[in-house]
Parts: sequence; structure tokens; C-alpha cells
Amino acid sequence: MVKQHVESAVNGKIRCDACPVMCYIADGRSGACDRYANVAGELIRVDPLTVIESWLSDGGKIVPFLPDTSAAEWDGDIVHANSSFITAIGAGTTYPDYKPAPFIVSQTVNGIDMVTVVTEGIFSYCGAKVKIDTDRFLGPESAAVRVDGEQIGHVTTGEYGSQMLSLGGVHHLTGGSKKEGRVTCDALLQLCNTNPVELSIDGGATLIVQAGRAPIINGAEEQRMRVGCGSATIGMFAKQWLGHVDEVVVVDDHITGVLSEHQAGKLLDIPPTGIKIKGRRSTPGRYFQVAEPGTGWGGTNVSDPLSIIADFDPKTAYPGLRMLMVSTTGEQYGYYILDENLQPILQTMLPAALQQSVEIVAENCEPAMSSVMFMGGAGGSLRAGVTTNPVRLTRAVKDALTYVSCGGAPAYVWPGGGITVMADVTRMPSNAFGYVPTPALVAPIEFTMRLDDYRTLGGHMEAVIPIAEALEQAERRVGAIAGSAWPTAERNFQWGA
Ligand code: SF4
Repeated sequence: MVKQHVESAVNGKIRCDACPVMCYIADGRSGACDRYANVAGELIRVDPLTVIESWLSDGGKIVPFLPDTSAAEWDGDIVHANSSFITAIGAGTTYPDYKPAPFIVSQTVNGIDMVTVVTEGIFSYCGAKVKIDTDRFLGPESAAVRVDGEQIGHVTTGEYGSQMLSLGGVHHLTGGSKKEGRVTCDALLQLCNTNPVELSIDGGATLIVQAGRAPIINGAEEQRMRVGCGSATIGMFAKQWLGHVDEVVVVDDHITGVLSEHQAGKLLDIPPTGIKIKGRRSTPGRYFQVAEPGTGWGGTNVSDPLSIIADFDPKTAYPGLRMLMVSTTGEQYGYYILDENLQPILQTMLPAALQQSVEIVAENCEPAMSSVMFMGGAGGSLRAGVTTNPVRLTRAVKDALTYVSCGGAPAYVWPGGGITVMADVTRMPSNAFGYVPTPALVAPIEFTMRLDDYRTLGGHMEAVIPIAEALEQAERRVGAIAGSAWPTAERNFQWGA
């Protein structure tokens, strides 16, 4: 565990100055955030400093994962400095920010001197964007999302096949009551550490969200993400229905598709059926607002799909007309034949070809998942721990001279001012996040660049240490996540540009 510098002590209690709370901590006790403890008069960062080793898989099994395609084959050296990356997890925080970051680590990568500046940033301005793969209605757009009755965020605009939540942010962390801030901070901490959190949405559902797991909505685990909207489903599978059925309706809360009217049906010479769908016709074979949003067929409130059909035009429709109705996940379906009065009658059996087509719709659905992206602004004072001239760090990030990672996971840096980053919490080692009771989330962040560039942007050169020195303090070694860019790989930088 990493030892911290202690500046003052009173009555045997040492003072932690890693955040504005400035706890006095007695021997054998930990501070208010449980991140720091007094062990025999020494201030210790409780969680182990975590290093990612390129040759370790997630389970600790040794595999030759190469950090860069141009890198040499793994030579079996367990302290292969070029393939180790010191993350900020367990590194600690320096406060106030003008002090150099806890670890400023140099290493040579493919003959180039590199430096990684490592710190556990204290983020008052941060939150999580949560993507929930479901069509089911979770709540109206902008509705409050609550934990223990406290608003921690809101429902934001839905995406293709997913509902989106925007959680946290400075307004809920600091702008409401003390309880609101505390509950928001704890919910973010749990979500970012990939733990389950129960959420309730005003006027909508209750759900359990856990990064990398299927959402549980109103007590039922979601199985599938829809294959596409109703119109897209018609476009994808029209050919498979040709000759087996006269009409197909794909029920969807956003765009319900009708095969005979859709361009796909026209191109396949499928004749009109005289079907009249409720809702607003957008373009041929594509209907909006066929029902209210809900947790029924295709994200509507419909349990009987016939309720979205007004009637059949007797000039066109005929007894014996065959119709398939299916939801966008293939979970619900029904096969109907029009009787003498042009009333659709549900059949107990589906013809084999239609059964197969429904199964293909279902097969093309991906497993429903909850995704949690940590989002935070590092454009503020945190930069001073990296450089004496903070704006130069922002410019270096924007100019792609500096690579930003969070616990080794690639961070997407938003365009525009500041260093506003977004990173997938499932790509980080476990327990990457902490908190301080101000309240604020503590998130790992690393800046990697050429040593020359670091010098140029006014870096704390006096604080640079070789990676071997940092590795001596690392107590947790984890494997690289497959598919993640290696933080010091050449391709992360515009070298030679
Ligand atoms: S809350 Fe944690 S980081 Fe802040 S001073 Fe107390 S022990 Fe240190």
C-alpha cells in the first residue's frame, strides 16, 4: 500500500490532506472516506496501487498479450517494464492541486522516453451515462431517477434500442440537500464499481442496473435488445416472409412496420391487404404512435396486438388472408387468418416457415445489457498536479500528444474546452472508484505522453520516477482487458505527424 507524506499530527492523530475534509486519523483507524488509514503513525492509502500487466489475462493466467503490434515478443520477464502500466487506482490524491500528482512515472517504450502522470482525481463534476438495452418504457423523458427517494438524475433521450439515463452531476452532488448529495455519490460509486443499484423512475419503472449485466425491469430480467425498429425489421426479413404470409406487422413503439405498404414489400410485389393501422402514418408502411409507451409488445402498452389495427378495407381484404404480427424482439408473435367478416382470428399453430422467421428475428437480437460510462471533467484544478501551466495539458490532450486513460481504460475526450472524459467502467480493474464525503467521486485518471512533451508543457520534472520504483509499491497486478488500447501504444499518439 502506498505511504503518504504526513504534514501534521495532533495528539497522536495524523492529518490526511488528500482532500478538503482534512481528517485527523487515530492509529489503527481510517479517515472519513475509508481510503486512507493511520497504520502505526504512517498514513497509508488503503487500496493497493494497481498495475496492469500486458501479459496477464483477466483471470491472472499468463498470456503473451502484446501491447503494440510493433512490440517485441514477450520474453517471459515478469518485470518487463515496457509492458506494465501504473494505473491511478490506489495511487492516492495530492491536495491542493499545485503539488505534483502522486506518481509521475517514466518508462521507455520502443526506444521512446515516455511519462505517465497518475492521480486519483476528486470529481465534483461527474456522473454516469447509463445505457439500458430495452424497448420497454422506463419513464417519460426528463423524469426524475431516484435512489432511496432522492433524485440522482433523469431519463434522457432514448437511443436505437436502448433507454438512456443521465445520472449524477454537480447539481445533484452539491446543489441539493446533504442527503441528495450523499445518495447520489453512493449510487455513482456503486454503478462505477460495477455493483447493482436499484433505481425508481417517476411515472415509470423500477429497475436494477449493473454495468455489464442485463437490466431487471419491474422485477423481470430483460433478455433481448430489439433487432431494430419495426420498419428496419420489415426491411431485414421481408424476403423470408415472401410467399408464406400475406401481411406482416412488426409492432414497435417508435416505428411500426407494415410489410404490404413498406418499400420492401413493394419491391417484392407483395399486394395491398387493405389493413388500416391506428396511429400516425409517417411514410408508406411506417407508423408512429400506434399505442402508448409501455412494457408490452415492442415497447408499447399493448398486450393484444390487434388493438393497433382499425380494420381491413373490404374492397381489398378477403377471407383467408394470412397475417403475422411480431414484436421487434421476436418475443411476442401471433398468426392470424381473416374470417368471413374480415376479422383476424388467432391461430394456435404457426406454419413452420413463419416460426423459423420469428426465431431469426429473436436470434438477431443481442443480449440486453446495462452499460455505465463514467463521465467527468478533468479540465479544472486536477491539471495542476500534472503541469505548472495547466492549459498546456488541455492543449496537449486536444492535440493528441497526451493520451488519457481511466484506470488504464481508454477515455473518450470530448471536443471543445476542458478535458471532459468518458470511459467504460467495465474496462477498468475492479474497485477503481472511491469517494470523499465532500461529496465527490474519486476516479482514476492517467495522462501519458512523451517525456519531451511533458517537459515542454511545464511538467513536474523533479517528481518523475522510473517505473521500476513505482512497481515496487504496486501490490495488485491485473491483466489487460482484451480489446482495450494499450495506454502507451504508439498508435495513441500522433508521433511523427
Ligand atoms: S476524507 Fe479521505 S481523503 Fe479526505 S482527508 Fe479524510 S481520509 Fe483523507
